[in-house]
Amino acid sequence: MFVTRFAPSPTGYLHKGHAFSALTAFTAARAEAGRFLLRIEDIDATRCRPAYEAAIGEDLTWLGLSWEAPVRRQSEHLDDYHGALARLEADGLLYRCFRTRREVADEIARAPHGAMEVFRGAPLRPEEEARRLAEGAPFAWRLSLEAAERRLGGFKALTFIEEGSGVARTVQARPQLGGDVVLARKDVGVAYHLAVVLDDALQGVTHVIRGEDLAEATHVQRLLQALLGLPTPIYRHHRLLTGSDGRRFAKRDKAETLRELRARGITPAALRQELGFD
Ligand code: GLU
Repeated sequence: MFVTRFAPSPTGYLHKGHAFSALTAFTAARAEAGRFLLRIEDIDATRCRPAYEAAIGEDLTWLGLSWEAPVRRQSEHLDDYHGALARLEADGLLYRCFRTRREVADEIARAPHGAMEVFRGAPLRPEEEARRLAEGAPFAWRLSLEAAERRLGGFKALTFIEEGSGVARTVQARPQLGGDVVLARKDVGVAYHLAVVLDDALQGVTHVIRGEDLAEATHVQRLLQALLGLPTPIYRHHRLLTGSDGRRFAKRDKAETLRELRARGITPAALRQELGFD
């Protein structure tokens, strides 16, 4: 059975780009007589707001979408993510990183001839790490690409199917693109990549339909699936909608939020038609 989802983060009001993404997934599910899920990706408590979450439901209902209940809210499943994190740690695939964002950026900039475009690191020496921990220094858990590569005997077998262009093609995953990604932070106990991968598997998602701004994230997500023994869904990354100025929509563009359009008297039918649906 075809299962797909729309997985917004309640960090702002939905805009036309979200409407396009949600309609793309919803229409695909309908076409396959499949299931359409809504998932609220609210693990980053520093940025998510209940008012935005309520607005997501209102806006999507206005747009004519319906989804299965109950809706999975990531903030209610932190134990699942921490469990996965603990497994990765027990398997020696994570290390503590005490660097600030600034220090990481400086380190990348200092590498000779742009040798390091993304961050790759290693655990501190045990005495040094014990000292930092005793000081109460904040740290993030990073996924060690080196350890992952050793564990899997290379990344060659990591592929996924991409159907975004309408034709299925097999893509070789290159987790190196993202470097040693952060999987947990002090303020946000688990990071996006881990939660998404786990949820898609737990919810039986067969097709991940989302914007192509997330295409690159698929590479490390494919790696996490392999490390956690989870199935790999089929991916359909769709084009991003752009405004009349050619720039893609973003949460900062207030004028194109669905609430704003509604307040201006735009009907859902008119919006769906403008976006190429119906
Ligand atoms: N929550 C993510 C976002 O709002 C989307 C995650 C996904 O579709 O995989 O950008």
